[in-house]
Amino acid sequence: MNCLECGEKIIGRSDKKFCNDACRNTYNNHQNKDSNNLMRNVNNKLRRNYRILKDINIDGKTKISKSKLDGLGFDFDYFTNVKVYKNGSEYKFIYDYGYKLLDDDFILIVRNQA
Ligand SMILES: [Zn+2]
Repeated sequence: MNCLECGEKIIGRSDKKFCNDACRNTYNNHQNKDSNNLMRNVNNKLRRNYRILKDINIDGKTKISKSKLDGLGFDFDYFTNVKVYKNGSEYKFIYDYGYKLLDDDFILIVRNQA
């Protein structure tokens, strides 16, 4: 077994993953940093999407073309939840702002007051 951090061969118990505490700490810090970076990136995208919808949707319901939303930097891969209503229409929400794809490349933005 080799140390997960430095790759040195570990001497001693066979269930050890690191050669010493310093290597274990360094390794764990890197792991946390990676997941923190990922979370920060996702949060930034959600925040940007939210701000875009909020800026556009001034009074309750707004129609906008998908390409215009694209142009504002909206990232359609990031949302917080999906809601399917009884009539079959599906809304993707970023917190309390949601949108639905309409025909002919348009998008309907709504705000969930609940
Ligand atoms: Zn090591």
